[in-house]
Amino acid sequence: MSLRVSAINNISQGKEVKGPGSAKITALFGENVFTLQKARAFLSDEAYKSLLTSIKGGKKIDRTVANQIAAGIRQWAETKGVTHYTHWFQPLTGTTAEKHDSFFTLKSDGTAIEEFDGAALIQQEPDASSFPSGGIRATFEARGYTAWDPSSPAFIMEIGDGKTLCVPTIFVSYTGETLDYKAPLLKSLEALNKSAVEVANYFDKNISRVAATLGWEQEYFVIDEGMFNARPDLVLSGRTVFGHAPAKGQQLEDHYFGSIPERVYAFMRDFENESYKLGIPLRTRHNEVAPAQFECAPIFEEVSVAVDHNTLLMDVMNRVARRHGLRVLLHEKPFAGINGSGKHNNWSMSTDTGVNLLAPGKTPKTNLMFLTFFVNSIKAVHDYADLLRASIASASNDHRLGANEAPPAIISVFIGQYLTKVLNEIKERVGDKFDEQDEAILKLDLHRSIPELLLDNTDRNRTSPFAFTGNKFEFRAVGSTANCANAMTTVNTIMADTLKKFKKDVDVLIEKGEKKEIAIMHVIREYIVASDKVLFEGDGYSEEWAKEAERRGLPNLKTTPLALDAMVTEKAKHLFESNEVLSHIELEARHEIELEKYIKNVQIEARIMGELCTSHVLPASIKYQNILINNIKGLKEIGLKESSYANQFQILEKISEHINILSDLVEKMIEARKICNAMDNTRTKAIAYESQVKAPFFDAIRYRVDKLELLVDDANWPLPKYREMLFIR
Ligand code: ADP
Ligand code: MG
Repeated sequence: MSLRVSAINNISQGKEVKGPGSAKITALFGENVFTLQKARAFLSDEAYKSLLTSIKGGKKIDRTVANQIAAGIRQWAETKGVTHYTHWFQPLTGTTAEKHDSFFTLKSDGTAIEEFDGAALIQQEPDASSFPSGGIRATFEARGYTAWDPSSPAFIMEIGDGKTLCVPTIFVSYTGETLDYKAPLLKSLEALNKSAVEVANYFDKNISRVAATLGWEQEYFVIDEGMFNARPDLVLSGRTVFGHAPAKGQQLEDHYFGSIPERVYAFMRDFENESYKLGIPLRTRHNEVAPAQFECAPIFEEVSVAVDHNTLLMDVMNRVARRHGLRVLLHEKPFAGINGSGKHNNWSMSTDTGVNLLAPGKTPKTNLMFLTFFVNSIKAVHDYADLLRASIASASNDHRLGANEAPPAIISVFIGQYLTKVLNEIKERVGDKFDEQDEAILKLDLHRSIPELLLDNTDRNRTSPFAFTGNKFEFRAVGSTANCANAMTTVNTIMADTLKKFKKDVDVLIEKGEKKEIAIMHVIREYIVASDKVLFEGDGYSEEWAKEAERRGLPNLKTTPLALDAMVTEKAKHLFESNEVLSHIELEARHEIELEKYIKNVQIEARIMGELCTSHVLPASIKYQNILINNIKGLKEIGLKESSYANQFQILEKISEHINILSDLVEKMIEARKICNAMDNTRTKAIAYESQVKAPFFDAIRYRVDKLELLVDDANWPLPKYREMLFIR
């Protein structure tokens, strides 16, 4: 029996796993996190204070205090039955990494004890030579180390009956270059804090800290585990490289906001509970547009914590799904012809005085502050659209961006009709004076009008990659598998830089004797004019927009290898270096790593395509071809006239043609791959993989396979079909 058939049978036999019993979320929330309350209970006053200041980005923790903190964390962890600990980090591979050590150790006299000291808390040397380093470690030093990041709380990961204490860390080479997603993110947050506080102080001297906030929305597919295992392409590349569209797709849109299937519902409640224990504040769950597609979203948090939580969530989802005989597909485009998955990044900035800097104000003064941060965000996107595009570029996200799917690869900003009108009014003010008309603009009740007017526009603005949604920007082009840190590092840094320039520009006018408000209004107006071309309110899917964008000079890079070029321009190097986020060496290394990831990804897909064709599709097709041949031969033998088997003949002809062309294409693709593999330069190789392997062969091969799927006897087709993966539960 084929894996496909047994998978279908197994589902019908139903192996429903119950979800967890209903518990109050508040009773679970943060149970497995070393929160400040727990720190309070398990640490001495001295250790607690020291931890607190270092969380706020303050002083380093010294050795004796580190020992105390480590002892306190271990004590807490042991009350929960933890035996091992690990430094948890986010390497550039895109997953998380950990290496478990036990608290258990032997003293010199052989006594067995449990120990976790400051040194083990603060620093570790994972055997990490196989993590991507873009050549940094090879060139400079052989190894890297992980260093404790006190700003993110330690937590306990439960895997089966095992419990492990996870210490969030950053991953650095011995020469100091960062090798993970987290370290530059933290630096970008610091850069943003610095320049945002300076600008915010124009309006309120009491503001001394600005933190970026992030609320992500995670889209994903869920399918049966048996089906998953019967699709080698899903197992190895995360997406189906073949599969004919089902008779029923998403045209009815009946899945959207429909009721959640029971089996998936049990899984959701289960992973939600696990998430609550880890302090991930999940709030919403619902069906998405595509069949078998879902979404979850938390309450927003400060960016670094939100990034950890999203990474953790993806991990938890993967593990919990297996308990339910299900698999989560986080890939951006697991099924062709069906909506892909994204991870909207809702981003804003909030002050230590409790103000959301992107929330419209109620008074002229707060309006001016809102307009300042709002217009600076637009200017930042305008000036660095290429970097934003690069920050979300990946082989899997290419299937969404620029592939007739939301959002397009062109980076633009949607702000809604109302704010467009407000900005236009400011723009059209030509005078050098701050007069009644400016005053009138600032007196508008933005606070009330914007959210109301945005509501009317939600349908259209869905196609925008960067949309203002009332009190935050929503960066929608981020892919569902991505680590949000990459996108957020870029958003924070370009904003930090733009605000820095803004401050300079305003101060110049103030020094010339201009009143502060007038100076600010002036620079705002200048920035609106300068970033005009990035604003777009229309349909981002449309062909007209692609043309219009070209006319405006907006880049439209549809493939990752080219989109990544933006990472290593002089402009990018200057930006990241002057804001102390990434050095040019780190940028070059990261560029190299992203290109390598792209190459590997396309390589794997090409291999799996070749393998599936030769070992699955062609044998099944040839078998059916033989059945037809024998049938026709037999009919001829018994003396029937040709017209009576004309149809079989036609089918045979079609099948034979597809088989022929398919095996030819596969051969040619293998040849093309060989040529690419011989290339030395990573960028050239990545471009070649796109233009010589992916573009000419992937769709062409798929076309033949999908035709064969329709022609070949269903009983002999080896791979689960779309309708089976998407609709049988
Ligand atoms: P929707 O986009 O469906 O209307 P919401 O606007 O309530 O839903 O929120 C979507 C996501 O944006 C949620 O994760 C929410 O926590 C987040 N969000 C809301 N306000 C902010 C903010 N100020 N900063 C960052 N994220 C936010
Ligand atoms: Mg949204």
